[in-house]
Amino acid sequence: MSQRPKKPKRPHGGPGGDRDLRTWGRTRPGMHVPVLLREVLQALNPREGDVVVDCTVGFGGHASEFIRRIGPTGRLIGLDVDGPELARTRERLAREGLPCSLHHASYTQVAEVLAREGLAGCDILFADVGVSSMQVDDPARGISYKHDDAPLDMRMDSRLKRTAADILAEISRDDLAEALRDLADEPDAQRIADWIVLQRGVTPLTRTGQLIRLTLNAKGLTERTWRDSPLTRFGQLHPAALTFQALRILVNQELDSIAALLELAPRVLVPGGRVGIISFHNGEDRLVREALARGLEAGLYRSLSPEAIAPSPAEARANWRSTSAKLRWALRA
Ligand code: SAH
Repeated sequence: MSQRPKKPKRPHGGPGGDRDLRTWGRTRPGMHVPVLLREVLQALNPREGDVVVDCTVGFGGHASEFIRRIGPTGRLIGLDVDGPELARTRERLAREGLPCSLHHASYTQVAEVLAREGLAGCDILFADVGVSSMQVDDPARGISYKHDDAPLDMRMDSRLKRTAADILAEISRDDLAEALRDLADEPDAQRIADWIVLQRGVTPLTRTGQLIRLTLNAKGLTERTWRDSPLTRFGQLHPAALTFQALRILVNQELDSIAALLELAPRVLVPGGRVGIISFHNGEDRLVREALARGLEAGLYRSLSPEAIAPSPAEARANWRSTSAKLRWALRA
């Protein structure tokens, strides 16, 4: 099993320390700070007139920088599965005078979107997979263990059929344990799966608070013992964080989508085009690393990032979402 991504150290307590801890790595509500922006621009090198596809436009953080660099002769095509956030981003980019064409679509449909735009291919294909800060902060989505009375929904795309509550009601104990291990490296995967299966026989699991308490209990904790534990002050990950992560990835079929995108990348890039993918945990990074290496071997790519590019310590301190980010790129032959 691969290692858990390393987390940067949080500032320690002591005089003034509490305030630092409360604000450490937070993004203002309704906002999202782009991850590895400098590194992305350096690796993908957007130039005047380029066609750029941002597969996960989100808040438009990376997209707006791409638009500035490709200028009026370039084209920025943006995709996102989150309809309401995409509408807000469309308005914001228009207000800032940044031309682009945004589609409510999954990046697994990137070839169809390019065809709809009348384009045969693109110079840059970029994806920053996972969730945005706005999605994590929105209690209605139930994506975060930070909201303890939210519906267990977790869908980024409201067109998806199954919510986290649906999956928790149906999934087998073995599949659940495997998902917790493979999608989040949860060390107590089996025990959490056992507790969930036991509990759902008593009451349906529909609220975030139920899942938080269950996960704590499976680890021999209660809300109070965890809250009072010195670990909470030393930046220890919340005991339910990995369970929430694994479920979100399952609900949104994130690994299958990334695998599909990696298959499509060499087909939609023009010769000399660049693909860049930012991923956030080992399961995703392994997919990216292996697919790009296979592409190099098959002669589809000319060169690859020699290793994953991680955020600087300063970025990791300033933006919680960047802490486990890894960027890999490849150059189309
Ligand atoms: N780079 C953006 C942030 C991206 S956050 C910025 O700097 O503002 C990740 C985004 O990917 C979220 O908005 C999420 O809705 C979107 N997403 C997740 N899965 C997707 C998929 N299969 N296709 C398209 N977008 C997806």
